Amino acid sequence: MRVGVMDGDVDTSIARVEAARGALGPGIGLMVDAHGTFSASEAKRFAAGVEPFDVRWFEEPVSADDRRGAVAVRSSTSIAIAAGESEFTRFDFRDLVEIEAVDVLQPDLAICGGPTEGRRIAALAEAYQLELAPHCWGSALSFSAGMSLAFASPAATVIEYSLGGNPFLHELAEETIEVADGRVGAPVRAGLGVTPRQEFIAEYTRKS
Ligand SMILES: [Mg+2]
Repeated sequence: MRVGVMDGDVDTSIARVEAARGALGPGIGLMVDAHGTFSASEAKRFAAGVEPFDVRWFEEPVSADDRRGAVAVRSSTSIAIAAGESEFTRFDFRDLVEIEAVDVLQPDLAICGGPTEGRRIAALAEAYQLELAPHCWGSALSFSAGMSLAFASPAATVIEYSLGGNPFLHELAEETIEVADGRVGAPVRAGLGVTPRQEFIAEYTRKS
């Protein structure tokens, strides 16, 4: 669930997480994502406030450009810190790992450098005993690439995926993404396994 600046203040974010946990009951993973909108001090106060509510991870507590802030947040809480969906190449991820800013690496294969670079980032997660949770968001192509990476790495059990409106994710491909009870099946088609719909491409092609 999204938390952070859209809630207006930290206490409202904490109250929303408490309400979500109350409605879900125990035993259902609940991740929170501030999308980089808290300051480090706000993020620390938020994390302390939601510690009782069994938060699976706290994603992008502060701006991706505030790495020292991320370190400060991570060192202040027992909640796992996730980040990386806007990072480029294994070198950005190496830096995050070296300064101990993250517990969960979230490469987006359309941003980080593609499947080969994604595999290098997965190797970092595997070597440092961190979790890998690919960001499978921007399109059916990046979804398929990130999901394939997740199935190829023992560090991954979760992908970040949206059920919200996104034509590039949900309408671009002939194939539909089958998600049931929060689970997705292993890829079985060759390559990315995505067949772009020509009508979709025609519809969204800019006419000059
Ligand atoms: Mg995210």
